[in-house]
Amino acid sequence: MTGISIRPFSRRINSIEMSSTSATVNTVAQMRRSGVDVVDLGPGEPHFATPDHIKQAAIDAIHNNQTKYTSVPGIADLREAIVQRHRMDFGSNYSFEEVIACPGGKYSLFMAMQILVDEGDEVVVPTPSWVSFKDMVCFAGGKCVFADTTQNDFVLTPDIVERALTPRTKVIVLNFPNNPSGALIDAASLERIVEIAADRNIWVVADECYVYLTFSGKPISVGQFKGRASNVVIVGSLSKTYAMTGWRLGYALAPAAVISAMQTLQSQEISCPCSVSQVAGVAALTGPQECVEQMRQDYVKLRDQAVAGLKDLPGIRTVMPEGAFFVFPDVSGQLRRRNMQGAREFCAMLLRECGVVMVPGEGFGSASHVRLAYSVSERQLARGLGKIREFCLAN
Ligand code: PLP
Repeated sequence: MTGISIRPFSRRINSIEMSSTSATVNTVAQMRRSGVDVVDLGPGEPHFATPDHIKQAAIDAIHNNQTKYTSVPGIADLREAIVQRHRMDFGSNYSFEEVIACPGGKYSLFMAMQILVDEGDEVVVPTPSWVSFKDMVCFAGGKCVFADTTQNDFVLTPDIVERALTPRTKVIVLNFPNNPSGALIDAASLERIVEIAADRNIWVVADECYVYLTFSGKPISVGQFKGRASNVVIVGSLSKTYAMTGWRLGYALAPAAVISAMQTLQSQEISCPCSVSQVAGVAALTGPQECVEQMRQDYVKLRDQAVAGLKDLPGIRTVMPEGAFFVFPDVSGQLRRRNMQGAREFCAMLLRECGVVMVPGEGFGSASHVRLAYSVSERQLARGLGKIREFCLAN
């Protein structure tokens, strides 16, 4: 219809944009519909199927009519299972009042920002960082202060964090293993950052969605420190650990007051996570954990394959990732050779000429890097790496 003018939307919605990884998913779907053979090294999700015992628990839940609303923070069995799993794996001591189940870690993080950040507050986000932190902070009215780790091979140090702090800092975001770099942090540095934050009355929001995909040493969580600080919100997820991205199940572990505020918000926004997914979540957390270890070992092999495939390519420099399922190579040499402005141009040309998808680094905070997700079969990865090699050698 013509002649009807739409009234403006809120300033809040205009302050954020579609996530660049979701935008890539849309492009790939469109190309595939038009018959293009695409090697997709873009998506941030496991290629494995959800383990059978988890699927069976969900099927049983449907047959048992566990299909109603649940209590806002999730069924008691699930909350207990989250707390117990964390206690067993990290020696933490969260209570039942200190946990909430949410539809995905992303939603837990979104709620954390809504609850902790006010208009004008500063949030320290170490970069490179997952694309959504920036928009979550903006939507809450806050301002991101980016703390770059690129010069330190993506390793965050207490010094880098301290330099970014101001009297207006309200939250420090941590994410280990990191998306997109796969970087880890050592326990002493992590504990020191939590101490620095506690001393200055700053919240720490620790995104530990990839914690079980740690490739060297024991996985670490901020919840494991003795005298756990009262300023820490841990966000976890079943998405990557159990290959359950579509089930939408994550959680937060935090002081009871934060969980109570999250319950209020969750009750007004989504009521509760999907009941069937919650039952599946109990099976995942309390059932056999061998599947997690098996997937982790497979990711290590794929990581090695990806790093070997990128090695010695002209104009490309790769830091060995220590977790998650991403490599974040620096392609600035290629950009210079091709006279390109940034990674977005590089990825667009790679897709056009070779049908390989990678996510440009701009959304993660670096225009000279690209993100390659190796959560694909060995065969697909080999195909993709072969095409990337041809592309990089061609010019
Ligand atoms: N945090 C990071 C760093 C992620 O990469 C993702 C998903 O890609 C999430 C959180 C959210 O995952 P989910 O909402 O599926 O639990």
